[in-house]
Amino acid sequence: MGGGVAGMAAACALAEAGMRVQLAERRSYLGGRASSFLHPGVGEVIDNCQHVLIGRCTSLIDLYRRLRVLDSIRWYDRFTFLTPGGPPTVIEPGPLPAPFHSTLAFLRAPAFSFKDKLAIARGLSAFMPGLPPDSAENFLHWLLRHGQTSNSIARFWKPVLVSALNEDLDRISVHYAAKVFRESFLLSPQSGRMGIPAIPLSELYGTATGYLRDRGSEVHLRTSVDSIAPTPTGGWLTTTGNPEIPAIPSDAVVLALSFEATAALLPALPQNPASQALTTDLAQFEHSPITGIHLWFDREITDYDHAVLLDTTIQWMFNKSRLQPAHRIPAVGGSAGSYLELVVSASRSLVPMQRQPIIDLALQELAQFFPAVAQAKLLKAAVVKEVRATYSVRPLLDKIRPSSASPWPGVFLAGDWIATGWPATMEGATRSGYLAASAVTNALGAPQTFLAPELPAAGLMRLFPRTS
Ligand SMILES: Cc1cc2nc3c(=O)[nH]c(=O)nc-3n(C[C@H](O)[C@H](O)[C@H](O)COP(=O)(O)OP(=O)(O)OC[C@H]3O[C@@H](n4cnc5c(N)ncnc54)[C@H](O)[C@@H]3O)c2cc1C
Repeated sequence: MGGGVAGMAAACALAEAGMRVQLAERRSYLGGRASSFLHPGVGEVIDNCQHVLIGRCTSLIDLYRRLRVLDSIRWYDRFTFLTPGGPPTVIEPGPLPAPFHSTLAFLRAPAFSFKDKLAIARGLSAFMPGLPPDSAENFLHWLLRHGQTSNSIARFWKPVLVSALNEDLDRISVHYAAKVFRESFLLSPQSGRMGIPAIPLSELYGTATGYLRDRGSEVHLRTSVDSIAPTPTGGWLTTTGNPEIPAIPSDAVVLALSFEATAALLPALPQNPASQALTTDLAQFEHSPITGIHLWFDREITDYDHAVLLDTTIQWMFNKSRLQPAHRIPAVGGSAGSYLELVVSASRSLVPMQRQPIIDLALQELAQFFPAVAQAKLLKAAVVKEVRATYSVRPLLDKIRPSSASPWPGVFLAGDWIATGWPATMEGATRSGYLAASAVTNALGAPQTFLAPELPAAGLMRLFPRTS
């Protein structure tokens, strides 16, 4: 139930294992929070927001391989950090073995003083041996306790983390912050490289429909799950709001919804003490917003495919015309136009703002990095606010993230919020789906595992095998 990444991962794994799966999704397309839609204001299909992965996302990569879309992911080793008017800082792997593969790039980085670089090296080295356990401490507190300079926090720790975990530093668990830095900068060059889809998200994930149908399974779109009840024969009956498929009988159910949709459905499931406890735990999850600002110009603004933007409200620039061939704007007469998406994570300050002031702010800040903006004509623009983008990985949240086992035998939980050891990401969602699929095969007496193997550490990081 639920056709987001978690539901698709569970369905595809089970269909591949020979089961007949019925995948019910409330919306008219698959993908959930990672999807594209026709934006009425600009008349184009756009992604709800740029989605990226890293090399460490082994189960998501496995899902892309299953769906035969891995070739549609473009990989980048080089990250450019820009300051308004300043020289670029390029972080990329060099010849030294892990965990020192980015050291030479850091030493050359103009965005940081020598003192900043020493502080960053000292901070990162704390995560070499392994991840600290989840504790009550937040990451801002940890950074200050570890003598980080204000510039290293503003230009390194914060931009990396806020975009990876979509939350402010004082609301992030040290354990998950450490995970991001260890896996992106220390473990191996392959672990930290960034993958960006070269096709719209709905095309990427829409392939799951054919995959499932080819394996004798079915996808029901516009099918909202209303209730789930046990049957006298030990199975489950799911009722839906779709008159064409009002009831789905099954041996097992995977509930692959967001945490708030799961909470909304709980009253329509049998009540017991464990379901009461789950209701209480779900009430403790909190959302954090992401805002995407989409701008179409009459000319090229930059040669970069993407860049981290420092010292401004806008945080990342993705040059969609270069990243996705479908968004190339051909030259008519003069030069080709371009389509950029600017991403602001943990965008609480933008949520109450109107569309036009957000666009004005974005243009004014973008021009500080790319002077061509001042001469360019803005052809059209869209602002997409995802107010419930992800849940916050607050300190100690792992204490209440449930496993795939649910309060009801034969019903299993999935979704990026369950206990996978990953934050709210497509990888976390995929892992949750694969874990739920394993639990289903266990329950039905034919156990299988679906999680992909972890990436091995490289270089000297092989001396520190501990990852949790
Ligand atoms: C703006 C934004 C940017 C992001 N950027 C990144 C990124 O760069 N990299 C990354 O890895 N992750 C990113 N994420 C997070 C990522 O999108 C999510 O973690 C992941 O997609 C969650 O998948 P899910 O299947 O767990 O949940 P969802 O995507 O929420 O899927 C749940 C599905 O259940 C459906 N549903 C709900 N209720 C019912 C019902 N009663 N009956 C039937 N269906 C129902 C919903 O319509 C939905 O399709 C981003 C998210 C957002 C919003």
